[in-house]
Amino acid sequence: MRQYRNLAAGFAILVLVSVQWAFPQRTQLKPGRNLFSPQQDVELGRQVAQDAEQKLPMLNDSRVDDYLNRLGKKLAANAPGEKYPYQFKCVNDASINAFALPGGFLYVNRGTIEAADNEAELAGVIGHEIGHVALRHGTNQATKQYLAQFPLAILGGVLGSNSFGSILAQMGTAFTLNSVLLKYSRNDERQADLLGAQILYDSGYDPRYLATFFDKLETRQRGSDFFSSHPNPENRIQTINAEISRLGPGNAGGTNNSADFRKIQQRLKSLPPAPEAGSIQDQGRDSGVRSQGRPARPSSRYQGFSVDNMNVRHPDNWEAFGESRAFTLAPRGGIVESGNAEALAYGAIMSVYQPSSGSRPGLKEASDQLVRELQSSNSAMRLSNDRGQIRVDGQPALSRIFINNSPLSGREMDWMVTVLRPEGLVYFIFVAPEQEFGDYQRAFEEILDSVRFK
Ligand code: ZN
Repeated sequence: MRQYRNLAAGFAILVLVSVQWAFPQRTQLKPGRNLFSPQQDVELGRQVAQDAEQKLPMLNDSRVDDYLNRLGKKLAANAPGEKYPYQFKCVNDASINAFALPGGFLYVNRGTIEAADNEAELAGVIGHEIGHVALRHGTNQATKQYLAQFPLAILGGVLGSNSFGSILAQMGTAFTLNSVLLKYSRNDERQADLLGAQILYDSGYDPRYLATFFDKLETRQRGSDFFSSHPNPENRIQTINAEISRLGPGNAGGTNNSADFRKIQQRLKSLPPAPEAGSIQDQGRDSGVRSQGRPARPSSRYQGFSVDNMNVRHPDNWEAFGESRAFTLAPRGGIVESGNAEALAYGAIMSVYQPSSGSRPGLKEASDQLVRELQSSNSAMRLSNDRGQIRVDGQPALSRIFINNSPLSGREMDWMVTVLRPEGLVYFIFVAPEQEFGDYQRAFEEILDSVRFK
Protein backbone atom coordinates (compact mmCIF):
# COMPACT_ATOMS: atom_id res chain seq x y z
CA MET A 1 0.00 0.00 0.00
CA ARG A 2 2.81 2.34 0.93
CA GLN A 3 4.69 1.58 -2.26
CA TYR A 4 1.61 2.21 -4.26
CA ARG A 5 1.12 5.51 -2.49
CA ASN A 6 4.66 6.60 -3.20
CA LEU A 7 4.13 5.85 -6.84
CA ALA A 8 0.91 7.76 -6.75
CA ALA A 9 2.57 10.67 -4.97
CA GLY A 10 5.32 10.76 -7.58
CA PHE A 11 2.76 10.83 -10.29
CA ALA A 12 0.79 13.54 -8.51
CA ILE A 13 3.89 15.71 -8.27
CA LEU A 14 4.47 15.43 -12.01
CA VAL A 15 0.90 16.39 -12.68
CA LEU A 16 0.99 19.28 -10.23
CA VAL A 17 4.18 20.64 -11.70
CA SER A 18 2.51 20.85 -15.03
CA VAL A 19 -0.71 22.47 -13.85
CA GLN A 20 0.37 24.64 -10.94
CA TRP A 21 0.39 27.80 -13.05
CA ALA A 22 -3.28 27.41 -13.63
CA PHE A 23 -4.30 26.29 -10.12
CA PRO A 24 -2.01 27.38 -7.31
CA GLN A 25 -1.91 24.70 -4.64
CA ARG A 26 -3.41 25.10 -1.22
CA THR A 27 -0.87 25.77 1.53
CA GLN A 28 0.59 22.49 2.74
CA LEU A 29 0.55 22.38 6.53
CA LYS A 30 2.36 19.87 8.70
CA PRO A 31 2.92 19.58 12.46
CA GLY A 32 6.24 20.97 13.69
CA ARG A 33 8.87 19.32 15.82
CA ASN A 34 7.39 17.32 18.65
CA LEU A 35 8.84 15.22 21.46
CA PHE A 36 5.44 13.73 22.22
CA SER A 37 3.67 10.95 20.36
CA PRO A 38 0.15 11.55 19.01
CA GLN A 39 -1.06 9.08 21.65
CA GLN A 40 0.56 11.26 24.31
CA ASP A 41 -1.31 14.25 22.89
CA VAL A 42 -4.51 12.36 23.68
CA GLU A 43 -3.41 11.32 27.18
CA LEU A 44 -2.22 14.80 27.98
CA GLY A 45 -5.34 16.41 26.54
CA ARG A 46 -7.60 14.08 28.51
CA GLN A 47 -5.77 14.86 31.74
CA VAL A 48 -6.04 18.62 31.24
CA ALA A 49 -9.64 18.32 30.02
CA GLN A 50 -10.74 16.68 33.26
CA ASP A 51 -9.18 19.49 35.20
CA ALA A 52 -10.56 22.19 32.90
CA GLU A 53 -14.10 20.86 33.13
CA GLN A 54 -14.03 21.09 36.89
CA LYS A 55 -13.03 24.72 36.74
CA LEU A 56 -15.04 25.96 33.79
CA PRO A 57 -18.80 26.55 33.96
CA MET A 58 -19.81 23.74 31.61
CA LEU A 59 -23.23 24.20 30.02
CA ASN A 60 -23.92 20.44 30.27
CA ASP A 61 -26.84 20.57 27.86
CA SER A 62 -26.94 17.36 25.87
CA ARG A 63 -28.77 18.91 22.91
CA VAL A 64 -26.16 21.63 22.51
CA ASP A 65 -23.23 19.27 23.07
CA ASP A 66 -24.66 16.66 20.68
CA TYR A 67 -25.00 19.30 18.02
CA LEU A 68 -21.43 20.52 18.55
CA ASN A 69 -20.22 16.92 18.26
CA ARG A 70 -22.12 16.29 15.01
CA LEU A 71 -20.79 19.49 13.50
CA GLY A 72 -17.29 19.13 14.94
CA LYS A 73 -16.81 15.52 13.87
CA LYS A 74 -17.95 16.32 10.34
CA LEU A 75 -15.29 19.04 10.21
CA ALA A 76 -12.60 16.94 11.92
CA ALA A 77 -13.08 14.20 9.32
CA ASN A 78 -11.49 16.64 6.86
CA ALA A 79 -8.47 17.45 9.04
CA PRO A 80 -5.19 16.02 7.77
CA GLY A 81 -2.86 13.74 9.72
CA GLU A 82 -3.55 11.73 12.84
CA LYS A 83 -7.20 10.86 13.53
CA TYR A 84 -7.81 12.07 17.07
CA PRO A 85 -10.86 11.06 19.15
CA TYR A 86 -12.40 14.50 19.02
CA GLN A 87 -15.00 15.58 21.55
CA PHE A 88 -16.80 18.90 21.73
CA LYS A 89 -18.44 20.63 24.67
CA CYS A 90 -20.12 23.95 25.28
CA VAL A 91 -18.91 26.29 28.04
CA ASN A 92 -21.60 28.47 29.60
CA ASP A 93 -19.72 31.70 29.04
CA ALA A 94 -21.12 34.67 27.12
CA SER A 95 -17.79 35.77 25.68
CA ILE A 96 -16.78 34.73 22.17
CA ASN A 97 -14.07 32.15 22.59
CA ALA A 98 -13.11 28.56 21.97
CA PHE A 99 -10.09 26.46 22.79
CA ALA A 100 -8.74 23.03 22.02
CA LEU A 101 -6.48 20.76 24.02
CA PRO A 102 -4.05 18.32 22.40
CA GLY A 103 -5.70 15.13 21.22
CA GLY A 104 -8.98 16.82 20.27
CA PHE A 105 -10.71 18.00 23.45
CA LEU A 106 -12.46 21.06 22.18
CA TYR A 107 -14.48 23.69 24.03
CA VAL A 108 -16.77 26.28 22.48
CA ASN A 109 -18.14 29.16 24.52
CA ARG A 110 -21.88 29.66 24.36
CA GLY A 111 -21.21 33.26 23.26
CA THR A 112 -19.58 31.95 20.08
CA ILE A 113 -22.69 30.03 19.04
CA GLU A 114 -24.90 32.99 19.90
CA ALA A 115 -22.76 35.46 17.94
CA ALA A 116 -22.52 33.39 14.75
CA ASP A 117 -24.87 34.45 11.95
CA ASN A 118 -24.88 31.00 10.40
CA GLU A 119 -23.46 27.54 10.86
CA ALA A 120 -20.51 28.26 8.57
CA GLU A 121 -19.24 30.99 10.92
CA LEU A 122 -19.42 28.66 13.91
CA ALA A 123 -17.80 25.93 11.80
CA GLY A 124 -15.00 28.39 10.98
CA VAL A 125 -14.14 28.89 14.64
CA ILE A 126 -14.30 25.14 15.29
CA GLY A 127 -12.23 24.47 12.16
CA HIS A 128 -9.59 26.91 13.42
CA GLU A 129 -9.42 25.02 16.74
CA ILE A 130 -9.27 21.66 14.96
CA GLY A 131 -6.35 23.17 13.07
CA HIS A 132 -4.48 23.66 16.35
CA VAL A 133 -5.14 20.01 17.28
CA ALA A 134 -4.25 18.49 13.91
CA LEU A 135 -1.07 20.59 13.68
CA ARG A 136 -0.25 19.64 17.29
CA HIS A 137 0.48 23.23 18.31
CA GLY A 138 0.07 22.55 22.04
CA THR A 139 2.70 19.86 22.35
CA ASN A 140 4.87 21.59 19.76
CA GLN A 141 4.96 24.62 22.06
CA ALA A 142 5.65 22.34 25.04
CA THR A 143 8.50 20.79 23.06
CA LYS A 144 9.99 24.20 22.30
CA GLN A 145 9.76 25.28 25.92
CA TYR A 146 11.30 22.05 27.10
CA LEU A 147 14.21 22.26 24.69
CA ALA A 148 14.78 25.90 25.63
CA GLN A 149 14.95 24.92 29.28
CA PHE A 150 16.91 21.71 28.84
CA PRO A 151 18.91 22.13 25.67
CA LEU A 152 20.98 19.07 26.47
CA ALA A 153 17.93 16.87 26.88
CA ILE A 154 18.17 15.27 23.50
CA LEU A 155 21.88 14.57 23.80
CA GLY A 156 21.40 13.18 27.28
CA GLY A 157 18.76 10.78 26.05
CA VAL A 158 16.27 12.04 28.61
CA LEU A 159 13.36 11.63 26.30
CA GLY A 160 14.00 8.06 25.44
CA SER A 161 13.50 7.04 29.01
CA ASN A 162 11.14 9.65 30.43
CA SER A 163 7.42 9.85 29.94
CA PHE A 164 5.68 13.09 29.08
CA GLY A 165 4.60 13.31 32.71
CA SER A 166 8.14 13.49 33.94
CA ILE A 167 9.18 15.75 31.09
CA LEU A 168 6.52 18.22 32.13
CA ALA A 169 7.30 17.80 35.80
CA GLN A 170 10.91 18.65 35.06
CA MET A 171 9.65 21.80 33.40
CA GLY A 172 7.88 22.57 36.66
CA THR A 173 4.57 22.74 34.86
CA ALA A 174 2.96 19.41 35.58
CA PHE A 175 0.26 21.25 37.51
CA THR A 176 -0.26 24.00 35.02
CA LEU A 177 -0.26 22.24 31.70
CA ASN A 178 -2.69 24.67 30.19
CA SER A 179 -0.19 27.47 30.68
CA VAL A 180 2.09 25.58 28.30
CA LEU A 181 -0.39 23.97 25.97
CA LEU A 182 -2.48 27.00 25.10
CA LYS A 183 0.35 29.40 24.36
CA TYR A 184 0.29 29.62 20.63
CA SER A 185 2.53 31.76 18.48
CA ARG A 186 1.28 34.09 15.77
CA ASN A 187 2.48 31.60 13.23
CA ASP A 188 0.44 28.88 14.93
CA GLU A 189 -2.60 31.13 14.62
CA ARG A 190 -1.89 31.79 10.98
CA GLN A 191 -1.60 28.05 10.32
CA ALA A 192 -4.83 27.34 12.21
CA ASP A 193 -6.58 29.99 10.10
CA LEU A 194 -5.31 28.43 6.88
CA LEU A 195 -6.20 24.90 7.93
CA GLY A 196 -9.55 26.14 9.25
CA ALA A 197 -10.32 27.60 5.81
CA GLN A 198 -9.30 24.35 4.11
CA ILE A 199 -11.44 22.28 6.48
CA LEU A 200 -14.40 24.57 5.97
CA TYR A 201 -14.04 24.28 2.21
CA ASP A 202 -13.61 20.50 2.27
CA SER A 203 -16.68 20.17 4.49
CA GLY A 204 -18.87 21.96 1.98
CA TYR A 205 -19.02 25.39 3.61
CA ASP A 206 -18.06 28.65 2.05
CA PRO A 207 -14.66 29.32 3.65
CA ARG A 208 -15.22 33.06 3.37
CA TYR A 209 -17.33 32.81 6.51
CA LEU A 210 -14.19 32.19 8.52
CA ALA A 211 -12.99 35.62 7.47
CA THR A 212 -16.36 37.32 7.97
CA PHE A 213 -16.61 36.02 11.50
CA PHE A 214 -13.14 37.25 12.41
CA ASP A 215 -13.94 40.55 10.72
CA LYS A 216 -17.08 40.88 12.82
CA LEU A 217 -15.17 39.95 15.96
CA GLU A 218 -12.54 42.54 15.25
CA THR A 219 -15.02 45.36 14.91
CA ARG A 220 -17.47 44.18 17.53
CA GLN A 221 -15.28 42.72 20.17
CA ARG A 222 -11.89 44.28 19.91
CA GLY A 223 -9.78 42.97 22.75
CA SER A 224 -12.09 40.01 23.03
CA ASP A 225 -11.03 36.81 24.68
CA PHE A 226 -10.61 35.13 21.37
CA PHE A 227 -7.97 37.64 20.46
CA SER A 228 -6.34 37.82 23.84
CA SER A 229 -5.86 34.07 24.08
CA HIS A 230 -5.16 33.82 20.36
CA PRO A 231 -2.46 36.28 19.33
CA ASN A 232 -3.91 37.96 16.27
CA PRO A 233 -1.73 37.29 13.25
CA GLU A 234 -0.97 40.23 10.96
CA ASN A 235 -3.41 40.64 8.10
CA ARG A 236 -5.49 37.72 9.28
CA ILE A 237 -8.35 38.33 6.93
CA GLN A 238 -6.14 38.92 3.85
CA THR A 239 -4.28 35.69 4.63
CA ILE A 240 -7.51 33.73 4.82
CA ASN A 241 -8.80 35.29 1.61
CA ALA A 242 -5.54 34.51 -0.19
CA GLU A 243 -5.88 30.88 0.86
CA ILE A 244 -9.47 30.78 -0.29
CA SER A 245 -8.36 31.85 -3.76
CA ARG A 246 -6.03 28.82 -3.82
CA LEU A 247 -8.81 26.43 -2.87
CA GLY A 248 -10.53 26.70 -6.20
CA PRO A 249 -14.12 27.65 -6.93
CA GLY A 250 -15.86 28.63 -3.70
CA ASN A 251 -18.68 26.70 -2.13
CA ALA A 252 -20.92 29.69 -2.57
CA GLY A 253 -23.90 27.41 -2.91
CA GLY A 254 -22.76 25.16 -0.07
CA THR A 255 -24.75 24.51 3.05
CA ASN A 256 -23.80 27.48 5.12
CA ASN A 257 -26.63 27.02 7.48
CA SER A 258 -28.76 24.26 8.93
CA ALA A 259 -32.03 23.88 10.72
CA ASP A 260 -30.04 22.29 13.53
CA PHE A 261 -27.99 25.44 13.98
CA ARG A 262 -31.11 27.60 14.25
CA LYS A 263 -32.65 25.17 16.73
CA ILE A 264 -29.57 25.27 18.92
CA GLN A 265 -29.52 29.07 18.86
CA GLN A 266 -33.19 29.00 19.92
CA ARG A 267 -32.38 26.49 22.62
CA LEU A 268 -29.67 28.76 24.04
CA LYS A 269 -32.11 31.67 24.08
CA SER A 270 -34.49 29.58 26.19
CA LEU A 271 -31.81 28.85 28.81
CA PRO A 272 -30.93 31.29 31.61
CA PRO A 273 -28.26 33.72 30.44
CA ALA A 274 -24.61 32.83 30.94
CA PRO A 275 -22.84 34.49 33.85
CA GLU A 276 -20.81 37.63 33.17
CA ALA A 277 -17.64 36.88 31.27
CA GLY A 278 -15.16 38.54 33.61
CA SER A 279 -16.01 36.48 36.64
CA ILE A 280 -15.58 33.26 34.72
CA GLN A 281 -12.18 34.18 33.42
CA ASP A 282 -10.99 34.68 36.97
CA GLN A 283 -12.45 31.39 38.11
CA GLY A 284 -10.93 29.60 35.18
CA ARG A 285 -7.54 30.96 36.01
CA ASP A 286 -7.63 29.85 39.59
CA SER A 287 -5.67 26.66 39.72
CA GLY A 288 -7.37 25.52 42.90
CA VAL A 289 -3.98 25.08 44.52
CA ARG A 290 -2.91 28.64 44.26
CA SER A 291 -4.30 31.17 46.68
CA GLN A 292 -3.32 34.40 48.29
CA GLY A 293 -1.27 34.42 51.44
CA ARG A 294 0.83 31.82 53.13
CA PRO A 295 -0.04 28.16 52.98
CA ALA A 296 -1.29 26.46 56.14
CA ARG A 297 1.37 24.68 58.18
CA PRO A 298 2.11 21.13 57.03
CA SER A 299 -0.28 18.70 58.68
CA SER A 300 1.25 16.11 60.97
CA ARG A 301 -0.95 13.45 59.39
CA TYR A 302 0.60 11.84 56.34
CA GLN A 303 -0.80 10.08 53.33
CA GLY A 304 0.78 7.88 50.70
CA PHE A 305 1.49 8.70 47.08
CA SER A 306 3.05 6.50 44.48
CA VAL A 307 4.79 6.88 41.13
CA ASP A 308 6.55 4.28 39.00
CA ASN A 309 9.85 4.30 40.83
CA MET A 310 8.90 5.00 44.47
CA ASN A 311 6.32 5.26 47.20
CA VAL A 312 6.36 8.37 49.33
CA ARG A 313 4.26 9.97 52.06
CA HIS A 314 3.32 13.63 52.36
CA PRO A 315 1.32 15.83 54.76
CA ASP A 316 -2.36 15.18 54.12
CA ASN A 317 -3.09 18.87 53.57
CA TRP A 318 -0.76 18.88 50.56
CA GLU A 319 -1.63 17.89 47.04
CA ALA A 320 0.38 15.50 44.94
CA PHE A 321 0.70 15.73 41.15
CA GLY A 322 2.68 13.40 39.01
CA GLU A 323 3.07 10.05 37.42
CA SER A 324 5.69 7.88 35.86
CA ARG A 325 8.93 9.01 37.51
CA ALA A 326 8.23 12.54 38.62
CA PHE A 327 6.02 14.32 41.08
CA THR A 328 5.32 17.64 42.73
CA LEU A 329 3.99 17.87 46.29
CA ALA A 330 2.62 21.23 47.37
CA PRO A 331 0.40 22.75 50.02
CA ARG A 332 -2.52 24.92 48.96
CA GLY A 333 -0.96 28.26 48.06
CA GLY A 334 2.40 26.61 47.44
CA ILE A 335 2.19 27.21 43.72
CA VAL A 336 2.26 30.84 42.70
CA GLU A 337 2.21 32.78 39.51
CA SER A 338 5.55 33.98 38.27
CA GLY A 339 5.64 35.88 35.01
CA ASN A 340 3.58 33.86 32.59
CA ALA A 341 4.17 30.56 34.28
CA GLU A 342 3.47 29.08 37.66
CA ALA A 343 6.21 28.25 40.06
CA LEU A 344 6.67 26.23 43.21
CA ALA A 345 7.21 28.49 46.22
CA TYR A 346 6.54 25.85 48.90
CA GLY A 347 6.76 22.09 48.42
CA ALA A 348 8.80 19.35 46.85
CA ILE A 349 9.68 18.09 43.39
CA MET A 350 11.06 14.69 42.47
CA SER A 351 12.27 13.76 39.02
CA VAL A 352 14.95 11.72 37.27
CA TYR A 353 17.89 13.33 35.53
CA GLN A 354 19.90 11.53 32.87
CA PRO A 355 23.54 12.53 33.15
CA SER A 356 25.28 12.78 29.79
CA SER A 357 26.10 9.31 28.66
CA GLY A 358 29.53 7.91 27.96
CA SER A 359 31.37 8.66 31.16
CA ARG A 360 29.08 6.65 33.52
CA PRO A 361 29.41 9.36 36.14
CA GLY A 362 29.28 8.62 39.84
CA LEU A 363 26.86 10.24 42.28
CA LYS A 364 28.91 13.40 42.75
CA GLU A 365 29.64 14.02 39.05
CA ALA A 366 26.06 13.32 38.05
CA SER A 367 24.79 15.67 40.78
CA ASP A 368 27.23 18.38 39.68
CA GLN A 369 25.99 18.05 36.10
CA LEU A 370 22.41 18.45 37.25
CA VAL A 371 23.29 21.52 39.31
CA ARG A 372 25.04 23.14 36.34
CA GLU A 373 22.00 22.48 34.20
CA LEU A 374 19.65 23.96 36.80
CA GLN A 375 21.91 26.96 37.24
CA SER A 376 21.89 27.63 33.50
CA SER A 377 18.19 28.47 33.78
CA ASN A 378 18.32 29.82 37.38
CA SER A 379 21.23 32.23 37.32
CA ALA A 380 20.64 33.31 40.94
CA MET A 381 20.91 29.76 42.28
CA ARG A 382 24.05 29.23 44.37
CA LEU A 383 25.30 26.67 46.82
CA SER A 384 24.83 27.69 50.44
CA ASN A 385 25.66 24.54 52.35
CA ASP A 386 27.05 21.19 51.25
CA ARG A 387 25.77 18.73 53.80
CA GLY A 388 27.65 15.84 52.27
CA GLN A 389 26.42 12.28 52.17
CA ILE A 390 23.17 11.04 53.69
CA ARG A 391 21.01 7.99 52.99
CA VAL A 392 17.62 7.73 51.32
CA ASP A 393 15.93 4.36 51.78
CA GLY A 394 19.35 2.98 52.68
CA GLN A 395 20.99 4.26 49.49
CA PRO A 396 23.85 6.77 49.44
CA ALA A 397 22.64 10.27 48.64
CA LEU A 398 24.06 13.78 48.48
CA SER A 399 22.43 16.63 50.37
CA ARG A 400 23.01 20.25 49.41
CA ILE A 401 21.24 23.49 50.19
CA PHE A 402 20.99 26.26 47.62
CA ILE A 403 19.83 29.83 47.85
CA ASN A 404 17.72 31.00 44.95
CA ASN A 405 15.29 33.77 44.07
CA SER A 406 11.81 32.95 45.29
CA PRO A 407 8.89 33.47 42.91
CA LEU A 408 7.32 35.30 45.88
CA SER A 409 10.14 37.85 45.66
CA GLY A 410 12.88 37.61 48.22
CA ARG A 411 14.97 34.49 48.55
CA GLU A 412 14.19 30.85 48.96
CA MET A 413 16.10 27.80 50.08
CA ASP A 414 16.23 24.78 47.81
CA TRP A 415 17.28 21.59 49.53
CA MET A 416 18.47 19.17 46.88
CA VAL A 417 18.95 15.47 47.54
CA THR A 418 20.29 13.21 44.79
CA VAL A 419 20.45 9.42 44.61
CA LEU A 420 21.99 7.39 41.79
CA ARG A 421 19.55 4.70 40.70
CA PRO A 422 19.23 2.37 37.72
CA GLU A 423 16.74 4.76 36.13
CA GLY A 424 19.12 7.74 36.40
CA LEU A 425 19.92 10.39 38.96
CA VAL A 426 16.84 10.66 41.16
CA TYR A 427 16.61 14.14 42.61
CA PHE A 428 14.40 15.74 45.20
CA ILE A 429 14.18 19.50 45.58
CA PHE A 430 12.45 20.83 48.69
CA VAL A 431 11.52 24.49 48.39
CA ALA A 432 10.46 27.16 50.88
CA PRO A 433 11.14 30.88 51.34
CA GLU A 434 14.37 31.40 53.25
CA GLN A 435 12.68 32.84 56.34
CA GLU A 436 10.18 30.01 56.55
CA PHE A 437 12.41 27.09 55.64
CA GLY A 438 12.69 26.13 59.31
CA ASP A 439 8.92 25.69 59.49
CA TYR A 440 9.04 23.20 56.65
CA GLN A 441 12.24 21.35 57.39
CA ARG A 442 10.58 18.72 59.50
CA ALA A 443 7.94 17.96 56.87
CA PHE A 444 10.64 17.81 54.20
CA GLU A 445 12.66 15.34 56.27
CA GLU A 446 9.63 13.17 56.91
CA ILE A 447 8.85 13.06 53.20
CA LEU A 448 12.43 12.05 52.44
CA ASP A 449 12.42 9.43 55.20
CA SER A 450 9.24 7.94 53.80
CA VAL A 451 10.75 7.25 50.38
CA ARG A 452 10.73 3.60 49.39
CA PHE A 453 12.24 2.83 46.02
CA LYS A 454 10.50 0.19 43.95
ZN1 ZN B 1 -6.13 29.90 17.68
